[in-house]
This record gives sequence, C-alpha cells and structure tokens, in this order.
Amino acid sequence: MKYLLFFLLVGYVLWRWRDAQARRGAAPPPKQAEQSQTIEMVACAHCGVHLPVVQALTVRSAYFCSAAHQKAHGA
Ligand SMILES: [Zn+2]
Repeated sequence: MKYLLFFLLVGYVLWRWRDAQARRGAAPPPKQAEQSQTIEMVACAHCGVHLPVVQALTVRSAYFCSAAHQKAHGA
C-alpha cells in the first residue's frame, strides 16, 4: 500500500511536470507569429528612401515618400 501511494505521487508529479513542459513548449508559437508580422517596405520612386507601404503615397503602382517627391517625379 505504501508503494502504491508512492507511485501515485511520482506519477502525479511527472504528469504535472509534463503538463508544465507542454505549456512552456506551446507558448513560443504566438511569439513567433508576432515576430512574423513583417511590415512591407517600399522604395520611393524619386529618392529611393524605404518606408512602410502604409505610409507611402501610391500613384499608378509607384510609391513616393512625400507629396513633394510625387510632384517632382511628375506623377
Ligand atoms: Zn522620396
């Protein structure tokens, strides 16, 4: 009977430990998903500076960093 309790305790500890390991192993994927959210960068057609596509001015599939460069490029 002593051994039965001992093995139950060991089994319980191992089960808790494996559960904790599984949770630790399951945690990284969301972090990797956050890191994989890359911002698409585009180059200004006039000066070539790179900027996030959401901040670029788009004129007929050409990207510009500012309205001034858009005008200077004749677009
Ligand atoms: Zn520019």
